[in-house]
Amino acid sequence: MKKNIKDYNLEDLKNLFIEMDEKSFRAEQVFKWIYVENVNSFSEMTNLSKDLREKLDKEFTFNNFNIIKKLEAKDGTKKYLFDILDGNAIETVLMEYKHGFSICVSSQVGCKMGCKFCASTGIPYIRNLTSGEIVEQILAVERDASVKISNIVFMGIGEPLDNYDNVIKAIRIINNQKGLNIGARHISISTSGIVPRIYKLAEENIQCTLSISLHSADNDKRSEMMPVNNAYNIQELIKACKDYIKITNRRVSFEYALAKDNNDNLEDAKKLANLLKGMLCHVNLIPINKIDNGRYNKSTNENIIKFRDFLNDRGIVATIRRELGSDIDAACGQLRRQNLK
Ligand code: SAH
Repeated sequence: MKKNIKDYNLEDLKNLFIEMDEKSFRAEQVFKWIYVENVNSFSEMTNLSKDLREKLDKEFTFNNFNIIKKLEAKDGTKKYLFDILDGNAIETVLMEYKHGFSICVSSQVGCKMGCKFCASTGIPYIRNLTSGEIVEQILAVERDASVKISNIVFMGIGEPLDNYDNVIKAIRIINNQKGLNIGARHISISTSGIVPRIYKLAEENIQCTLSISLHSADNDKRSEMMPVNNAYNIQELIKACKDYIKITNRRVSFEYALAKDNNDNLEDAKKLANLLKGMLCHVNLIPINKIDNGRYNKSTNENIIKFRDFLNDRGIVATIRRELGSDIDAACGQLRRQNLK
């Protein structure tokens, strides 16, 4: 089977060209064609000899995704359903903010975590995405929408820390100044809370933002919403976050999806404030998006504002996340299999 050239980082490409008896500077040329010029094929790499282009084409796939479906929301948010060329499909979302374009990428085909409020639950987990497939989501969207993406969130389908090696490799490719050149500070990894991997991530020396899907400060409630809490409870999770902050000096972000009469009263806010007291962190409050047959309903605006104010009054920085793309099911947790092959 042919290998995907986008699974190669610059170092791998250098080694590849050395093995092919070619000059190693070819690696930088190819890297630039892929990540700066964002071309569609080897044949467009005009500073390479025709022979070399043909040789590469014989041995490698270029792996440009096909667009199966593209939906555009009233607010300009675009949701892509990509054919990833093996019969599977994934979703990627492009959002525009004041500070530029942000992309929400998937890390797996399906997800194993089983969070009760998430639209990815109940669909089978198929496989990890390769690093090349993670990066291709950015390239494919940039090609289609003619934009330069400046922020990346790993908040699409999948649990990024369950596909650790490929996610880290993709981030290093994305970071590379000779390619996409998107700084780690503009990349957020969102996790349901796989504690050992948080410790590992802290040691990578990458300045990305860690986002924790917390959703409750109460172990019973959180376990009910998120089975991962049975493996790693809130106290273990917070300990890992404190370690992450100490090592990286980065502020951790906590995601909290508010569900009516579940986790949205002031008792819940009080527990949360106590849990996060003194931490270098930020709380992102998200009105929960109801999924089909889901047991959780969106909190009222009034409750969400009260919840935020309660936290802010206690010195915990909390903001309410603007909902983008909700009319095309592109908002948090709404990326769903129904559309997929
Ligand atoms: N597996 C990772 C990343 C994917 S989910 C994680 O759990 O963090 C991305 C974010 O969307 C998470 O914060 C998740 O908790 C949130 N989310 C999932 N379903 C949601 C829903 N129905 N409403 C609001 N947020 C949701």
